Amino acid sequence: MEYIIVGAGLSGCVIAEQLAENPDNHILLIDKKKHIGGTCFDFYNDDGILVHKYGPHIFNTADREVWDYVNRFTEFYEYYHRVLGYVDGELVPIPFNLKSIRKLFPEEMAARLTEKLLEKYGYNTKVPILELDRQDDADLKWLSEYVYEKVFFHYTVKQWGQRPDEVGGRAMARIPVFVSTDDRYFQNAYQGVPKYGYTKMMMEMISSPNISILLGTDYHSILRRIEEDHTIRFLDREFNGKVIFTACLDGLFDYRLGELPYRSLDFQFQTLDEESHQPVATVNYPCNYGFTRITEFKKLTFQKHPKTTIMKEFSLAYDYRDDKHDPLYPIPKTANEELYRSYREEALKYKQLVLAGRLADYKYFTMAETIENALRIAKELKSSS
Ligand code: UDP
Repeated sequence: MEYIIVGAGLSGCVIAEQLAENPDNHILLIDKKKHIGGTCFDFYNDDGILVHKYGPHIFNTADREVWDYVNRFTEFYEYYHRVLGYVDGELVPIPFNLKSIRKLFPEEMAARLTEKLLEKYGYNTKVPILELDRQDDADLKWLSEYVYEKVFFHYTVKQWGQRPDEVGGRAMARIPVFVSTDDRYFQNAYQGVPKYGYTKMMMEMISSPNISILLGTDYHSILRRIEEDHTIRFLDREFNGKVIFTACLDGLFDYRLGELPYRSLDFQFQTLDEESHQPVATVNYPCNYGFTRITEFKKLTFQKHPKTTIMKEFSLAYDYRDDKHDPLYPIPKTANEELYRSYREEALKYKQLVLAGRLADYKYFTMAETIENALRIAKELKSSS
């Protein structure tokens, strides 16, 4: 069977790898970028420091199957991501937790708030900020308003261009308030970073001889959608295989139902002549400056180097006419999801087309969810061929 996979990101690479297990399958993996890996792409910069081109990626999952899968392609460093937020002049753990409370408030007040949180929610519970607000104790209400304002509100306005209550609950629930002293960003059983980087890991995935890779190629230049019979032509010839599509759906349909909104980021990298810049890999700046966070890559890649590279993230609306930025985050709002569903309905009329990944599924997937989804799709493809 012939397969064309549009997009050599994590979804595309996993599906290619799975399909390539069958020597009778031929897979063409294409990407308009000149590199594989999509937004998980990492590389050594001019100073020899390994950086994540599209923002910090930390692998974490509770799913043993996904963890075993990625471990087939690389070794991992054991790494537990810790994020500090600059709040009222202090660097405090994010997600906001009992240690953040102790660091920010006078002793007696911190003890009272802690006691009330423990009583109300119990130890080691995660409370989404929108949930914390829904109760009537005056102290907890005050705390909720404080955290909402100092941790979520401005960060979210910067990141999404809208208020936390306008952004879907799922996006906000990613970073809850944590009634715990565990200050790791994630609590999943399996966490780490690939020892030689994500790009290397994905290169391993797609190393099979029955996968051909074509980079720097826009899918529009080789694939054509035929409206009349809902088929897809390849190089203007009939094509009997499947097209696994991982790019934005609005682009596939020439934006005819409107543009699907995505957020993008502007990444500002800087290499500093110092060995260490900040105490942890990522420091969030919810209330200060125009950027949302600063990441120092060496702190999450374990690289030793006399210099260090940091990166600031500035969020902006994605515009497909602007080729300097990429669609990075689907915006989980009802109106956007409705528009997405209309595009999806159109797409599903094309029997050859299979949709996968954060962009084509219009879902704010983590890397682990992306892989889980890709493995499921590959399984369906394998059983139907
Ligand atoms: N968030 C926030 N303040 C923070 C960290 C996160 O308000 O200090 C909110 C914000 O809306 C953000 C979302 O939680 O977009 C998810 O954060 P996460 O770190 O998972 O974002 P990602 O790494 O995917 O950009």
